[in-house]
Amino acid sequence: MNFSSKILEEAVNQVSQLPGIGKRTALRLVLHLMRQPEQQTDALAQSLLSMRNDLKFCKKCHNVSDNDLCEICISHNRDQNLVCVVEDIRDVMAIENTSQYKGLYHVLGGKISPMDGVGPQDLNIPSLINRVKEEGIQELIFALSPTIEGDTTNFYIYKQLSDLDVNTSTIARGIAVGDELEFADEVTLGRSILHRVPYENSMKS
Ligand SMILES: [Zn+2]
Repeated sequence: MNFSSKILEEAVNQVSQLPGIGKRTALRLVLHLMRQPEQQTDALAQSLLSMRNDLKFCKKCHNVSDNDLCEICISHNRDQNLVCVVEDIRDVMAIENTSQYKGLYHVLGGKISPMDGVGPQDLNIPSLINRVKEEGIQELIFALSPTIEGDTTNFYIYKQLSDLDVNTSTIARGIAVGDELEFADEVTLGRSILHRVPYENSMKS
């Protein structure tokens, strides 16, 4: 791509570093920004800087936060005895969007994956074990992806907790709402039968 301006070229190069954005899309976005009122581009640049400089991670659950402790951890309306263990902050957002869960979270920051060189020491597992020891948590809900890495991570944490008095559960896995049974893969269908629920429970949801 030939640019008549080094400044434009640099802007396109920077934007094209973002995941899923090629040079052509980057150019389209940069040209769009050029046509916007100056305040709008300033606001975008300012919010990116602020995200970089001011955004924190909650000292307790590792969720993103504007303060040392996040809104969820300091809320009086949340069940302090219940902690949902998730892989990253997008999972917190997804579960919060359901409005079905009123406990706390613990964000691991990934899954154990020897193939990618991610071991237990790279994740927020020690702080989770400390929370169980110190906060009197009664139940941990494992809500990691149903993959080999997710299962390995669940099992590793479960073993670490073996001497501690805490209940562990995992989110139900099965047929998605609205799915036709004949199109479900056999692992999913098998799990759904294995983890069937009393009919009265299914009517409540
Ligand atoms: Zn928090």
